[in-house]
Amino acid sequence: MARKIADCRRFESDSNCSLTIIGEEDEVIATAAAHAALVHGHDDTPELRTALRALLEPEDSYIPGSRATEPFPA
Ligand SMILES: [Zn+2]
Repeated sequence: MARKIADCRRFESDSNCSLTIIGEEDEVIATAAAHAALVHGHDDTPELRTALRALLEPEDSYIPGSRATEPFPA
């Protein structure tokens, strides 16, 4: 199973979060949901996890450094 990326650098945040999570999809979703709740004040709900799952990117699209930000859609 291909690994996936959840990339906090992609989204605007008060803390300019630089975290990138890479792993198997279920690992990334669990970690990203916990991170979103702990650091970014989201509620860890099924809806959040669905939104996060839609934002995953393939592992081989990873680019080091910084990237342009966009608003978090959820
Ligand atoms: Zn973050």
